[in-house]
Amino acid sequence: MEARVNDGRDISGDFGGSDVRRAARRDEAVRAAVEQGLLGPGTPIVGLLDVAGIRESAAALRAAFDAVTAPGTPVLHAFAVKATPLVPVLRLLHEEGIGAEVASPGELALARAAGVPAGRTVLDSPAKTPDELREALTLGIAVNADNPQELGRIDALMAEGPSASPVGVRVNPQVGGGSIEALSTATATSKFGVALRDEGAREWVVRAYLDRPWLTRLHAHTGSQGIPTALMSEGVRETYALAEEINERAGRRQVDTLDIGGGLPVNFASDETVPTYAEYARVLREAVPGLFDGRYGLVTEFGRSLLAKHGTIVARVEYAKSAGGRPIAVTHAGVQVATRTVYAPGSWPLRVAAYDGKGQPKEGADVVQDVAGPACFAGDLLAVGRALPLLEQGDYAAVLDTGAYYFAHHYAYNSLARPAVYGFTEAEDGAGGGHGGGNAGTAFATVRAAQTTEEIVAEAGGAYADALTGGFLRGETGAV
Ligand SMILES: *Cc1c(COP(=O)(O)O)cnc(C)c1O
Repeated sequence: MEARVNDGRDISGDFGGSDVRRAARRDEAVRAAVEQGLLGPGTPIVGLLDVAGIRESAAALRAAFDAVTAPGTPVLHAFAVKATPLVPVLRLLHEEGIGAEVASPGELALARAAGVPAGRTVLDSPAKTPDELREALTLGIAVNADNPQELGRIDALMAEGPSASPVGVRVNPQVGGGSIEALSTATATSKFGVALRDEGAREWVVRAYLDRPWLTRLHAHTGSQGIPTALMSEGVRETYALAEEINERAGRRQVDTLDIGGGLPVNFASDETVPTYAEYARVLREAVPGLFDGRYGLVTEFGRSLLAKHGTIVARVEYAKSAGGRPIAVTHAGVQVATRTVYAPGSWPLRVAAYDGKGQPKEGADVVQDVAGPACFAGDLLAVGRALPLLEQGDYAAVLDTGAYYFAHHYAYNSLARPAVYGFTEAEDGAGGGHGGGNAGTAFATVRAAQTTEEIVAEAGGAYADALTGGFLRGETGAV
């Protein structure tokens, strides 16, 4: 299919119509953001989120599991909040039938602020404090214990009084890692969960369940970027086999719900959505048919795959220069919004698409160039030696597929401000762009305002300016 979209010059493979439409919406949003003044010399960087795209991904996830599960099977899709920790995004997903997986008091607060009910929230994290555990058990949030010491803390809290929280144990099936070491959760020595193949561990887990009738869930999260679906499903199969073993030894269906984690990889090389949720669900059903026959409720925890392709960072080219014969576009998007890509470009390459000063896709022959960020270190480069239409002063560089783990994860290097994030949608007639011609244009909503310099100063100890030069007080922090 001919794709007339600005794709960062990396289009490959066959496209579904929805992928092409998403890319076309992105082009339109960049143009409208410039036209409506969200982007310009005074606001040289924004994050954009495609509301229709997020809804489509949520619907695709629900449909994929509906298609493989027995009718009536309870399935909770809990969005891994860490992927895009923005309250309006969590609210949108909640409206689309997606709950929240949280891993810190902050993430739990975000989910609650978005109105995600306790019954649709799951708490994982390898370092939960007693206070966090108590809060979760009081609220009735599902908890997955990471290790024996944590289970001991939960024992003590359970002894204090009943809780509505479903509780499980996280296991590491140790099926092996993927292509990105830092993201591989199921290696032999991963820090997460109870390492199932270690000596005595499996028996310890089974006994833990037999001793605690309130342990009704079993959790594993073995996928992530760089992990093939076949390896992911192997992890799920191991977890399922353990649940079957526990239930057989218990002589009842004690484990009633399997939490299979998230981790579907995202294709960052083109606009194609691959693998799809439907493909993963089919791979899972092949590998673990018993998982879907209605005997187990299911929880999933997808993050990156729900949001990545719906976010775009757009940054103005402040200066265009050349060094050693290579053109360099100095933009406002760098390490502060694309931290992983700048520090580990081999693992996290991103597409960059070129737009002109009006936000129109840039025409012209490809030129090998570097796309740099604003930070004061030499490695702050979004792309090195990338063939793109030549970026010139006042143009815009769009960094694609950045809806998860990118612009929402600000890194405060050089005290660069967190950029504003806007959601966009096709406007109803009368709202939004209104540039005539039948299409009412693109309308924007603020998801997060840009950080102000006053906020930067306040967050950098502005209220304690003389803390180190004034008198020190023993036993007091001097907090105001
Ligand atoms: C990070 C994480 C997820 C989500 O992973 P994605 O790769 O973003 O889908 C799910 N569950 C747990 C426990 C996680 O730590």
